[in-house]
Formats: sequence, C-alpha cells, structure tokens
Amino acid sequence: MTIDNIKNYLQSYDGPDLNIMEVCGSHTDAISKNGIPSMLSKKIHLLSGPGCPVCVTPSSYIDKLIDLSKEPGNVIATFGDLIRVPGSSKSLSDAKGEGAEVLMLYSPLDLIKTAKEDPDKNYIFAAVGFETTTPVYAVLLDRLIEENIKNVKLLTALKTMPEVISHLLKNKAPIDGFIAPGHVSAVTGYGIFEPIAEEFDIPFGVSGFKGEELLIALYGIVKNAGKGVVKNYYPSVVKDEPEEETKRITDRYFVMCDAVWRGMGKIENSGMKIRPEYAMYDAGSDGLFTDEKKNKACICDQVLMGKKKPFDCPLFKKVCNPLSPQGACMVSTEGSCFSYYSNDRRD
Ligand code: SF4
Repeated sequence: MTIDNIKNYLQSYDGPDLNIMEVCGSHTDAISKNGIPSMLSKKIHLLSGPGCPVCVTPSSYIDKLIDLSKEPGNVIATFGDLIRVPGSSKSLSDAKGEGAEVLMLYSPLDLIKTAKEDPDKNYIFAAVGFETTTPVYAVLLDRLIEENIKNVKLLTALKTMPEVISHLLKNKAPIDGFIAPGHVSAVTGYGIFEPIAEEFDIPFGVSGFKGEELLIALYGIVKNAGKGVVKNYYPSVVKDEPEEETKRITDRYFVMCDAVWRGMGKIENSGMKIRPEYAMYDAGSDGLFTDEKKNKACICDQVLMGKKKPFDCPLFKKVCNPLSPQGACMVSTEGSCFSYYSNDRRD
C-alpha cells in the first residue's frame, strides 16, 4: 500500500466513528504541525491524552517546590517549561520574581558541575517525566554517588504510561485506539502495551514523529479497530523488549509507587520514586497527593482524559493563552491546549 493509498483511505473512511488518542506530547505537537487532522475523514477524531510531563504534574508538587525554594541556601533546578506551570496559587516563575533562586537547565546532568562549584548551596532538581526521563535521573544519582556529591537532591513526580492508559479505559474514556508513545516505547519496548490491548480489545499503533509515519500508524489503528493488538510502525527505533542497560540502571535507583496526575487524582502504581536505600537524595517526594486548580474554570482534567477539547474550555484564548497559562496544558509546546492554540486547531 502506498502513502497516497493510505491518505485516500483515511480521507474517505466511512465506517463507525473512531476516537484515537495520542499519549505523547511530541506526537501532539507533530500531529498539529503536520496538519494531520485535516487529512482525516470527519469520522476519525483525534484526542490528546496525558502525554505531556508538565501537563500531568499536580499542583501540590509545584507548591512543594515553592516551599523548598523559600529555605535559605536552596536552589530549585528545573527544565524550562515547568517554571510556568501553575501551582495552587502561583508558579515557580512567580516565586522567582519574589526572590527564590530558580535555575533552568537542559539536562539534569548539568547540575553536577554547578553543584561541585558551589558546595554551600543545596540544589533540588524538579524531576518530572515519564519512562524516557527516569533513566537520566538514575544516571544522575549514579554520578552523585560516584563523585560523593552531597548537595543535590531530587523532588520526584515521575509517571509511567501503561497504568494511566489502563486508568483511562477503566474509567470509560471514549477511546477506540491509541497511537502508542514513540519515545516511551523505545525505552520500554512495545510489548508493555500488549496486556492492555488484549484486556480492552483496543488497537495500539507505535508511530514515529514524521507526518507519513503518523498516517501509517493511524491507518493501522483504523484497520484494526475493535482488535486487541499492538502493531509496531516504528521498527527502526522501537523493539518488543526494553533496553536492558536502561532498565538495569533505572531499577537500581527507582521503584514503582502510586502517583497523582493533574486532574485525574491518585492512580495506583503509576509512578516511580527513589528507592528507600537512596532516600538521602530525595527532597521529600512522598505524600504530594493533592491537586487544586489555580483557576477553577480550567478543564485540563477533562482534556487530558479525552472527554473535552481545549476549545470547549471557557477560558481558552480568552484569559488562557501561552503568555498567561491558567492550566498546565497551556504551558508546554507539547500540551494539548498550547498545540490547539498555536495551530488554530478546531478538530
Ligand atoms: Fe486549562 Fe487553559 Fe486549557 Fe482551559 S485552555 S483547559 S484553562 S489550560
């Protein structure tokens, strides 16, 4: 089948309505940038799920970072996006404006040099992310131990994908198929999604990030609607099994735990935390189990579960925009609301 045949099929599809969810922020971004929604029949609906790490980070976590930033000598280190995510009343960016020390880094490993140069400061890395990022934090812990660096800790809010997907399906989210997360699948292996596909009779298509790769995966998902299968359309990068070395170092330092997802509450065993034997590197990650909205009208929770679209939110493009985000989904380029806003999507 040629890509033109696939495009024709997806454009002229006239079967039952299908809701297909992507659960990777990079897919959300790629779908918008490649204009994929306009290439699909009106009977194929794309939903953006909980695949953007900063979007699913609960307000209690941001509040805890802000509390830690107030302690003398503490410096909060973070990826750029997280700094603007609203907590229950303010963001880290607001706290910085009030005098907190907040350092933006591209990689957690950059903290090693900084911490060694300034041993009188306590550095706390805001460790958010999915299965893709947790191994990097494991490497950081490995280096901290090896180099006997004592002034770095992590505040973790790490999430795992299969459990949140199961949660959505158990809670009757209106989903008929998933574009499986490409980056996560590369680390975990796509086999991790097979039990869910079989339990819920739902197809998964593992996809790359180019427009044609997404169309091929969508075609496979539509053709397999109603079947519990996982098909790998990204075989150059994704295998069935996890990367052994990555799994080994991650398991050495992290263990599964319950986690709170913004808007969805606590989901059993859907997170990773530092193992108790390395607790000296944990800045107090346990018990961050509340999630209060800064703006009560924000419907990020329903957007993340595929029940509403960003433009259904009364704040969308009015008081909520990338310069003044009222909810986490408008902060990152990978967030659903940001993507719909910046690409003027109405699908
Ligand atoms: Fe929340 Fe803003 Fe999205 Fe509305 S538009 S759901 S306020 S992030």
